[in-house]
Amino acid sequence: MAAVLWTLSGQCYSFCRVTILLLALILACYDYSCMSLTRQEIKRVLAEVNMAIREHYGQQNVELSRVVHPQPDLLIPPRRDVLVVTPWLAPIVWEGTFNIDILNQQFRQQNATIGLTVFAVKKYIIFLKLFLETAETYFMVGHRVNYYIFTDQPKHVPQILLQKGRQMAILRVQSYARWQDISMHRMEVISIFSQRRFLREVDYLVCADVDMKFNDHVGVEILSSLFGTIHPAYLGFPRGSFPYERRPQSQAYIPKDEGDFYYIGALFGGSVPEVYRLTKACHKAMMIDKAGLIEAKWHEESHLNKYLLHHKPTKVLSSEYMCDQFLLYVMWAKQLVGSPFIIKKMRVMVLPKNNSELRADEGHFQKGFSEE
Ligand code: UDP
Ligand code: MN
Repeated sequence: MAAVLWTLSGQCYSFCRVTILLLALILACYDYSCMSLTRQEIKRVLAEVNMAIREHYGQQNVELSRVVHPQPDLLIPPRRDVLVVTPWLAPIVWEGTFNIDILNQQFRQQNATIGLTVFAVKKYIIFLKLFLETAETYFMVGHRVNYYIFTDQPKHVPQILLQKGRQMAILRVQSYARWQDISMHRMEVISIFSQRRFLREVDYLVCADVDMKFNDHVGVEILSSLFGTIHPAYLGFPRGSFPYERRPQSQAYIPKDEGDFYYIGALFGGSVPEVYRLTKACHKAMMIDKAGLIEAKWHEESHLNKYLLHHKPTKVLSSEYMCDQFLLYVMWAKQLVGSPFIIKKMRVMVLPKNNSELRADEGHFQKGFSEE
């Protein structure tokens, strides 16, 4: 009897073993087909977002050139005097933190086109010549650039000889009585043109003020999905003293215990979809404020700061990219920054301007409130 039981249990044991083996085989096959599906899926998604990869899969046997550059040293930080990465792991772009040759090679593989938007309305047209001339010398040299000049005086846009691969579009915009409205409506115009035109024509947008000049290299190191620039006047300040909008009634309201940096309204950008989202959101917030008869302290800059607090930028440009030399020395004298030499390159410089002359015809907020 025991022998019979033993034989039966032996048979049962080998039957179970075969069944388990079969099941494992089925599972492995299923897993493999899932994995290869997932891999295909990943390739497809990557190919959609990364043009370099899209090109790679489009061509067979691509010859890749050698990539020779100094090895990054994991044990030596590039800068010891400044923060080079945000707590959400976005790089902060300072001189010494990047190798432009590597970046140029990466962006050339993408064949990226960069759009630079600038507004020159009413008297601000006088800044355009220097802006464009210096952009030709320093801005995205060697890459494809489209300038988009928004103005109320297309005939007065200076004629500039553009380098190869660079184009200019002059686009008429309406003027407003108040300079604040001209400045704020840039958000609306950029959002409309992003959908209508920029999405088709460029990969990245850089949105700049016109009262500035390029003074040193400004290249693809600034490009990312969404970027903002640290305001030179508030470098090193505690967040409680940033000039954010502090009235809770405004859409731009930021409480004293919130905030990362104070971003300047004069330079921001990113991919076209991200800039579309940002400009649309800021315009919408300004329209809500307008309906509630409130205007944020620093206009669209206040709304930009609110947006970037909630939608963290993927890159932050240091004040090298919007520099005010005089201000820097004042801050150093007041011991707000350790040294004016943290700014090793003044890549973009804010131009001094005579506001009483430029903004002479401004109206009061309520008086100049134009109905649309
Ligand atoms: N702007 C303009 N015409 C005006 C007022 C403003 O074209 O009458 C545009 C211009 O591009 C300018 C930007 O809006 O650089 C922001 O205005 P501003 O530079 O005066 O602001 P700030 O830099 O002083 O905050
Ligand atoms: Mn300005």
